[in-house]
Amino acid sequence: VAKETRSGVATYSVYRDHNSADRLTLLGELRQALDDDLLTLQYQPKVSLRDSTLMGVEALVRWQHPQRGFVPPDEFIPLAERSGSMHLLTDRVVMLALAQIAQWRTQGFSVPVAVNVSLTDLLGDRLGDLVSSGLRQHALPPGMLQLEITERVVAQGSEGLNAGLRRLDAMGVTLSLDDFGTGYSSLLRLQSLPVDELKIDRVFVSKLSEGPAAIGIVRAIVDLAHALGMPAIAEGVETEAEWLALRDLGCDGAQGWYIQAPMTAGQATEWLRARSF
Ligand code: C2E
Ligand code: CA
Ligand code: CA
Ligand code: CA
Repeated sequence: VAKETRSGVATYSVYRDHNSADRLTLLGELRQALDDDLLTLQYQPKVSLRDSTLMGVEALVRWQHPQRGFVPPDEFIPLAERSGSMHLLTDRVVMLALAQIAQWRTQGFSVPVAVNVSLTDLLGDRLGDLVSSGLRQHALPPGMLQLEITERVVAQGSEGLNAGLRRLDAMGVTLSLDDFGTGYSSLLRLQSLPVDELKIDRVFVSKLSEGPAAIGIVRAIVDLAHALGMPAIAEGVETEAEWLALRDLGCDGAQGWYIQAPMTAGQATEWLRARSF
């Protein structure tokens, strides 16, 4: 089933088909796409709310299907997770991101890149081994790679997960708590987590215009991040009013269409050039 997005590009939605055979087909096609190297990354800047300097970019995976058109990550990430192929996708995304960091460095841009990872990625040694060999291969400082982990995942807090997070933290990789405010982690858990940055989920940003309660919640999250010694980054910033409100609340960084929509690698390089970071 094709649907029209804002941009008018046809996208495929597997859940509209209500057909598990279709999902199996899509999963097979995803595995093929991984084999054929058909997944690419787009990059979206995170900038300082104080002075608009670049804090880094988030890598977002893209799958341009030869027949179905653009398949959104929200459609195929859960599929990869449930079928046990998530690590294949994460391996690819991490390697593409590290190669991009290295390429930007040779072009004179020092840009930390954030990659989204899932729960299964953090269990076991696989991701840590990959990151450590990839950083070495490209001769990159570990802090150039950032890993975004949703609060929903982190809240679960198994011993395997804790060990995975500790190892990555000890390597010097930056850890970012994604979709914050939607995952029910206890304050005690938050305090003991080795995370370096907190990303405020866009649902809170989109409610800022609704009034004092919504503003108070965002202020509380920003203050909580600061109490834990971390910067707060707001995601899904779409308007100037949101930007100004967040800046007034002391939020540190922002990401969203108001600043810049996700870009291809080529566009992102042009963007960096034009802004001369
Ligand atoms: P996320 O980590 O919260 O990523 C941000 C999403 O918000 C992206 O959607 C981005 O395109 C979108 N976005 C950016 N600015 C705005 C804005 O101003 N307003 C609104 N409404 N949306 C905005 P995208 O690329 O479709 O990704 C959706 C989700 O898929 C991501 O959410 C992330 O959880 C997951 N994802 C994407 N790439 C990867 C990946 O490489 N690995 C894993 N495990 N998950 C990924
Ligand atoms: Ca993210
Ligand atoms: Ca750290
Ligand atoms: Ca997010």
